[in-house]
Amino acid sequence: MSFPRLAPFIRSTAAILFRQNRIRGILAAATALVLLLSPYRSDRTLVGALAGLTAYVAFVGASTLWLVRRQRASITLMSAHGVADVSLMFTVARALPVNAESGWVLLAAAIPLQVAMFQFGVRPAALVLVATLFWQLAVMALADSAPQALPVTALPALASFLLLALVSFLLHRRVERRLAALRSLFDEAREGDFRRAYDLENDLHADSVTAVGVAFNELRAELAPLVNADPATGCLNRRGFALHLDRALLDARRRRGEVALLALDLDHFKQINDRFGHLVGDEVLYEVAAMITDAVSEEGVVARMGGEEFTVLLPWADAEAAGAVAERIMARLRGRQCRALPPDTTVTMSIGIAVERITDANIGSALRARADEALYAAKRSGRDRVLLWASGVRSHATPPTSMAVITRRSGERPRYPTPAGPGKPVPG
Ligand code: GH3
Ligand code: MG
Ligand code: MG
Repeated sequence: MSFPRLAPFIRSTAAILFRQNRIRGILAAATALVLLLSPYRSDRTLVGALAGLTAYVAFVGASTLWLVRRQRASITLMSAHGVADVSLMFTVARALPVNAESGWVLLAAAIPLQVAMFQFGVRPAALVLVATLFWQLAVMALADSAPQALPVTALPALASFLLLALVSFLLHRRVERRLAALRSLFDEAREGDFRRAYDLENDLHADSVTAVGVAFNELRAELAPLVNADPATGCLNRRGFALHLDRALLDARRRRGEVALLALDLDHFKQINDRFGHLVGDEVLYEVAAMITDAVSEEGVVARMGGEEFTVLLPWADAEAAGAVAERIMARLRGRQCRALPPDTTVTMSIGIAVERITDANIGSALRARADEALYAAKRSGRDRVLLWASGVRSHATPPTSMAVITRRSGERPRYPTPAGPGKPVPG
């Protein structure tokens, strides 16, 4: 049977079991030879051992056929193979006059234990351990000598075996736990989420798992900016923004808090391109992005959604705080001359704000749509202003029909009403 013909089967536990069973077949044949050729066997025990061997071969053969046909292996089947291995070991050892009760078979039984643990996991290994203890106690009980005359090695051997099993389980669990942490990091990375690094501080080892963790962190440092950031401005891109928004909404829902989104769009940016060229336009975008990022500071994150449109996420802001951030951005833009543009060339922008107390984490796109509506209402009503969304705002209204939102022109005192009542002046 060739493996390439069993493509999906290859990396499964069924394939591992299938490969193991080829080795089991060879070992069973060698055992039969030893039993038949050994001058030390007694005929009485030989029959029992050959019966055990026959049952073992029948089980391995039947399970191999089952594996090939079904191409999957249950935990029960994996465990059964390990249990069959140790059972055969003890049966054959008892057939030969080699003091099976003295504990040396435990040394051999450590092999199926390790194989089960590293190839199939803790549960099959635990069953192999139980089977081994059962058989060891059985051969000790069935030994010809009286219990008090048992070989002196039996109990220390049993204790050593238990210790070996315990240490193996602990080490295995530690590796598995760190591998699980790595696996979840890779799962997040596949979604483009590179926020978490492998925690080297708390990894007190220096093995190959640690090495993979270090490699992941290096990969993360190189890939995260490529995957989640906009190369032209250094802001988050849409993907990076979506990750931050999802996380912020889940967090806000937990604490029943408010989240604010700002949709920003440069006014008449096409004219800047037309007058000064695209390269200058690019430089202006870069400078504006830096101004926005600077104004938002630690309060939120800035993303470039495409072209000359940006979005700011303020995960902790109410309408007041969001208005204050929007005003800060406007103030920076007015107060600073773009280096790429001739003196006295002004750049303005319009900002739409949407704020919501989060009870449903799926409100992300609705919130973005509201911020966009408010933005386009701000455009329609003359640009260079900040507008807070309220129900009734429609992007196609010229000017916005709902004055539940109060527009702001340069020099006016801004007020940001909340749906609950009249607005308060924005500080600063
Ligand atoms: P409005 O006030 O209505 O937003 O007018 P506008 O001219 O800014 O908007 P419009 O959507 O008509 O044009 C956007 C322009 O932005 C068109 C395009 O040339 C320019 N633009 C988009 N992306 C880039 C970019 O990456 N670099 C440069 N230089 N220009 C860009
Ligand atoms: Mg524009
Ligand atoms: Mg635009």
